[in-house]
Parts: sequence; C-alpha cells; structure tokens
Amino acid sequence: MLPVVADVTRDVAAGPPAEFVASAQPLRDPFARSINYLRVSVTDRCNFACTYCVPDDGVNHKTRADLCTFEELERIVGVFAALGVRRLRLTGGEPTVRAGFVDLVARLRRVPGIDELVMTTNGHRLAELAGPLVAAGLAGANVSLDTLDATRFAELTSGGDLVRVIAGIDAARAAGIEVKLNAVALAGINDGEIAALCAFAWQRGLVMRFIEHMPLSSGALYAPARELAAATIRAAVVDAFGALEPSAAERGIAGPARYWRLAAQPAHELGIISAMTEHFCAACNRVRITADGQLHACLGHDDAVNLRDVVRRGGSDDDLRRAIAWSVEGKREGHEFQRTGGGAPTKHMIAMGG
Ligand code: SAM
Ligand code: SF4
Repeated sequence: MLPVVADVTRDVAAGPPAEFVASAQPLRDPFARSINYLRVSVTDRCNFACTYCVPDDGVNHKTRADLCTFEELERIVGVFAALGVRRLRLTGGEPTVRAGFVDLVARLRRVPGIDELVMTTNGHRLAELAGPLVAAGLAGANVSLDTLDATRFAELTSGGDLVRVIAGIDAARAAGIEVKLNAVALAGINDGEIAALCAFAWQRGLVMRFIEHMPLSSGALYAPARELAAATIRAAVVDAFGALEPSAAERGIAGPARYWRLAAQPAHELGIISAMTEHFCAACNRVRITADGQLHACLGHDDAVNLRDVVRRGGSDDDLRRAIAWSVEGKREGHEFQRTGGGAPTKHMIAMGG
C-alpha cells in the first residue's frame, strides 16, 4: 500500500475547494496524529524583544483591525472544540499586552468543550495579573526564564527585568497557577546555567524545560555555533545532579517535550523540546493560530489558511470546520529545520508564539 502523505503541492491559503468534504471529527491528520491542542497567538506585539526571537530590523506588526476580535476568537475556538480540541494555550508575542486579556481568558475558558486553558508568557505582567487570571479560569503558565543573571537577562530580552519576572513566577504559584519554566538553550549564552536553572525551578517545585533554538525568520536569527543539543543539556544535568530517567510515560504527556527526572529525586523533573537534534514530529498533536487568524498546521512551514477571513466573509460554522479540516489534512509530516539553519520558514516566532 502506498504511504499516506499530505498533498503539499496544493494551495493551502486558497482554502478548501467546493468539492472538499471534511472528514468526520475528531481532527486527525494524514499521518494519524490526533489534533487536540490549539495554540492561539492573541497579539504579535511584545514588551520584550528577545534577541533569538525578534529580527534586528523588527517585524511588520499587524494593525488592530487585522487582529481577530474576541468574538471572532470565541467563534473559532468553539468550532475547534466541537472538532475535539480540549486544550487551549494563549500566547503571543506577549499575550498579556493584548488589551482586555483577562476578559479574553474568561470568555475562551467558557467555550463549551474547552477543558483547560493555559498560556505562555514572559512573566513581566504576571505579578499584577496572576490573581485576576486565576479568577478568569487560567490553569497554567509556561514562563520564559532563559537566565538567572540580571544583566544577561536584560541583554537577551532587550530590557527585561529579572527581579520582576521572578516576582511574577512566585505570584503565579501563590495564586494556584501551575507554572513551568522555559529556557531557550543557547551555547555561549546560558549553557553554563543549566544546573542553576534546574535548581531554581526545583526549589520551587516546578518543572524546568529547555528548548532547542529553531530557525524561523528565514534562519536570520539562527547560528549553528549557538546549538545546545538535548544530549548536552542532559549531560550537564547528570553532571550536576546524577542520573536521569524518563518520566513522560507516567505523566501521560503527548506533544513535543520529552520529560526526565532525577533517578534519586523523582520529584525533580525537566523537559527538553529538541526540535533540532531529536525530532518529535511523530508525536505532534497541535495546530496554531496567529493573531490575525491564520491557521498554521505546522510551525516549520509557511502554509496557512485564514480563518478570520472565513468569519469576516460571513462564513458559517460549517465553512470554518471545512477550512480547519482542509488545513489539518494538509499538515506536513514534519518540519525541515536543519542544524545549519536551512529549511526555515519565513515566518517569525514572535508571530507564532512558540
Ligand atoms: N512572549 C511569550 C514568552 O516569551 O514566553 C510567549 C511567546 S514566545 C515566542 C514563546 C516561546 O518561544 C518562549 O519560550 C520563547 O523563549 C520561545 N522562542 C522564541 N524564539 C524561539 C526560537 N527561535 N526557537 C525556539 N524557541 C523560541
Ligand atoms: Fe517577546 Fe516572548 Fe519573543 Fe521574547 S520570546 S521577544 S518575550 S515573544
């Protein structure tokens, strides 16, 4: 039998042709991966400009009119929920800079079928927002923390305040938000801090996650010499704390992060998102929507279909369902990122939200 492959030659952006019939729910891509997790970027703006995320000459930000309104997002998320998506992550840019963000969390949390709403944030506004966000229904926050050195933090983020972000992390914990910490792993920048970041997280009972740097923005921000591979990260942890053992199976986690724990202290866990050196596309369970409503079935490719346009053209929920199914049926088998920096899409991480 011939292998099933996505038809990558078709024009995804054009949307489904009239004869396209969406297959039955729940969402499944051509490689039998169930899509049950949606990431929504609510803004392409940010109060930081991390050097590994934002190109030197900036990005062309969307206008306010380009952004999906809260009503449009509610509608789109509702159709995803009807198609079996249960878990929603809000991201950015920096999601907390979107005006009315707490209200948006409350609205999306109420969408029937959405069981869990979490976000990814740089933590800058967490201290003031943690309480209201919990009241709005936010369950978890992945907070970016690349370094514990205040000067390096300010350099890397173009002005971020480490003390303030740590206060945000602690406020979120105190408010009952499940916090995980994310560090983009970069040789020559934070490779000497792997153990310190783990210790910081573990002292607070948190999971520390390291993300291999990926080439987006046509590879402009990627440098092979900055590669800090998953195996090197694990070796640094073993050196500092002793043997690791896998812990993903017990946590029942689907998705790209692979989890490990200290053999001697199983409560101390780390995750590694190793897009570059240990591929995980076979376990992909997600799609992403940008702030202007483009549905990207894969982070590593520029293919997208605009759901906001379907709504603004007066499309029905069935039209949205067909556009979503069309995108998912075109989901690629995997990214084509190369460790040289090749294979990068033109899109920017600040617009995709991780
Ligand atoms: N502003 C929020 C934050 O920083 O957490 C959310 C958006 S940010 C784009 C989401 C995640 O992507 C962050 O953990 C960030 O460190 C990470 N990131 C940014 N650029 C990246 C890249 N080129 N490769 C891998 N991770 C990246
Ligand atoms: Fe902003 Fe997050 Fe990108 Fe840093 S990683 S510039 S905080 S969107």
